Amino acid sequence: MANVSLQQIGKSYGGSVAVEAFNLEIRDGEFLVLLGPSGCGKSTTLRMIAGLESITTGDLLIGDTRMNNVDPKNRGVAMVFQNYALYPHKTVSENMGMALKLQKMPKADIEERIAGVADMLGLTDYLERKPGSLSGGQRQRVAIGRAIVRTPEVFLFDEPLSNLDAKLRVKMRMELQELHDRLGVTSVYVTHDQVEAMTLADRIVIMDGGVIAQVGTPREVYDKPATEFVAGFIGSPAMNFMTMQLASDGSWSSTESTLVLPELPGFDTRGADTVRVGIRPEHMTILDASAVGDDPWVLPGKVMLAELLGADALLTLSVCGEIMTARVNGVGYPEQGQQLAVRLNPEQLHAFDRESKKALQV
Ligand code: ADP
Repeated sequence: MANVSLQQIGKSYGGSVAVEAFNLEIRDGEFLVLLGPSGCGKSTTLRMIAGLESITTGDLLIGDTRMNNVDPKNRGVAMVFQNYALYPHKTVSENMGMALKLQKMPKADIEERIAGVADMLGLTDYLERKPGSLSGGQRQRVAIGRAIVRTPEVFLFDEPLSNLDAKLRVKMRMELQELHDRLGVTSVYVTHDQVEAMTLADRIVIMDGGVIAQVGTPREVYDKPATEFVAGFIGSPAMNFMTMQLASDGSWSSTESTLVLPELPGFDTRGADTVRVGIRPEHMTILDASAVGDDPWVLPGKVMLAELLGADALLTLSVCGEIMTARVNGVGYPEQGQQLAVRLNPEQLHAFDRESKKALQV
């Protein structure tokens, strides 16, 4: 096991920058997830750690060794790919043992190690089969097994579950979690799926346009998003955003609708007379229309659309003309067309600088 240190790492393709000034200390034994939309530089970062992509600027250390120019096979890393990358004409056992054979490990030792890992992954009965006769989940397990037999210091996962159906993804996610608990190997995992990131990660790195937008635990990035981008990316359905302007009486009114908030409690809005305010769909309380009155946080609204998801329902609301999504209990929720009242819980508001998009200090 080893820590991984990325110091001012950058990657350019020709003139275009894919990753810029990436600074991160990945702790020994940590499960770190790189999360972000397509094209934000996640795979490039992972591939630079693997040695599959050259590093344009900065230093990469694994343990205490600078790895920039070290051959991939000598970095102590093992990578698991989205497309499994198995040899179709070789058996499961041969696929898993390939790297060890190249290292000239004695045959008996290879077999022993394969047997142990196959047992761990439930592959014992499949060792003599070819990948073509395995299910997607089994193939991915072979790919993971092939990485484990090498006893690497660092596992690198590039969207390993993306080719699996939804049910199998959940199962494999649990298996990966168990494996990590058991082996404790430092892992770097790339995904664009926030649920995978939230459930697997010790810490998440959210990337936006080749740079780090935020590093934090799943709870931190959900509760305290550092930028408007992170706030909109983490959470499903996405956070509702409004552009609000300061009025002379200290209240804030939307530039798009008649929605008015009495104040932005706790936020340092000094020097900003227009800010972006956000609230998550799960942080709005739906009340009877008659509740509008004394509490300035209770606003009149109307249901534009009501969608049952199962346990929950999503309401698309017009709140003082502002279109917002609310997540409510799936039993007894209001119908389309119904008038109601919405309380925007003030302690669960987020506020961002309109120019820099950074969260305003509390
Ligand atoms: P992600 O994994 O987040 O989807 P990538 O790391 O694959 O993003 O890509 C980051 C950026 O680098 C993208 O703009 C992509 O088009 C560009 N890029 C990736 N690989 C190459 C390449 N081999 N040549 C030129 N540009 C590339």
